[in-house]
Amino acid sequence: MKHRYFFRLGFVLLCLIPLVGAALRAQAVGEVFPSWTPGTMDIHQISTGRGNCSLLILPDGTTLLVDAGAQVGTSERWVTARPDDTRSPGDWITRYVRQMLRHDSAVRLDYALLTHFHSDHMGAVSQSSKASPSGGYKLSGITEVGEELPIGRMLDRGWPDYQYPVPLEDTMVQNYRIFVRWQSQQRGMRVERFLPGRKDQILLLRSPGSYPDFEIRNVVANGEVWTGVGSSTRQHIPPLADIPREDRPGENMCSAGFRLSYGRFDYFTGGDIPGVPSEGFPAWQDIETPVAQAVGPVEVSLMNHHGYIDSQNAFFVATLRPRIWILNVWDSAHPTARVYSRLQSSRLYPGPREIFTTHMHEANIKVIAGLDRLPSIHGHIVIRVAPGGNSYRVIILDDAKESYRVTSVHGPYEAR
Ligand SMILES: [Zn+2]
Repeated sequence: MKHRYFFRLGFVLLCLIPLVGAALRAQAVGEVFPSWTPGTMDIHQISTGRGNCSLLILPDGTTLLVDAGAQVGTSERWVTARPDDTRSPGDWITRYVRQMLRHDSAVRLDYALLTHFHSDHMGAVSQSSKASPSGGYKLSGITEVGEELPIGRMLDRGWPDYQYPVPLEDTMVQNYRIFVRWQSQQRGMRVERFLPGRKDQILLLRSPGSYPDFEIRNVVANGEVWTGVGSSTRQHIPPLADIPREDRPGENMCSAGFRLSYGRFDYFTGGDIPGVPSEGFPAWQDIETPVAQAVGPVEVSLMNHHGYIDSQNAFFVATLRPRIWILNVWDSAHPTARVYSRLQSSRLYPGPREIFTTHMHEANIKVIAGLDRLPSIHGHIVIRVAPGGNSYRVIILDDAKESYRVTSVHGPYEAR
């Protein structure tokens, strides 16, 4: 029997080698960001300067892309493109994803979610956009990423009719719908409407039994908000027939958002939902408050609507009370001064917190005192959650060139 014991011991030691290897390949400043390993969860906020894009590598290796923004054009108000404008944002994103999924023999996105139908989240189509050689759609943002990388399941807030709150007929959505039809017919991509309240729409697909304490809970879309009880929801936006035309919900108010939980670690992402209605507009245009009631405290939150003037209301900040705020920037108003002061307020919640931004506009650094003292204001932001979800680090990667090198490491932080 003894030899069996040693055989087992040898097997255990063999299994430990990759773990020890992973520990040795810790994130070090100046070095290339080490590959994802099983059990770890990586949340990448990709910096293109042209819109929102997050790549999530879940604990079993399941992959999820949230948005693939691609503003087209230039403006003094916008930050410069990252790394530069020699490639389109969709191309930079694709290359970034390939690098971060290099551990996969066949790089694929198991899921992609569009939070809402704005160009800084899905890509803009112009006369000069490249066309798909075979698909009949133009390549920008999500359609450009999806042309290069297989997407297993595409989720959005509008499928199948794209009629809420008004028929969505602009060129971006038309182009996206051609993409969705062709990809589902020719490449087997599945398309679904993102359903609030559900925790079984985005699942671990590769080794689900290994991580029973992992969950993605769909929280909001089209103003329908999870109540926090079971999978029940309620419609926060009044019936359209009861709303005067000038008060109708805008696209941002319809954004999709979810809460991800892994062990004690929680993360929220909610597209561009607003929380501070413009003066004179109805109170229901605050979507953040019911969302915060359902979500509760988290470790890390992506800031809603890029920290713009109508976002991160006091209740939302006090309720989510994250240790880490991530801000995706493409405009000089990301964030605005009042939003920034709310995030810093120890009256809204006690304790330390850090704000990391992808690529701050120089003008905004001059206008808002303190922005230049944030721990990082340029770079890809990676939240690397340790196996089990009890702790995490924030790792900043160089976005000035395609080096994938670590520029700073923050933490570890304990999950609560
Ligand atoms: Zn946006």
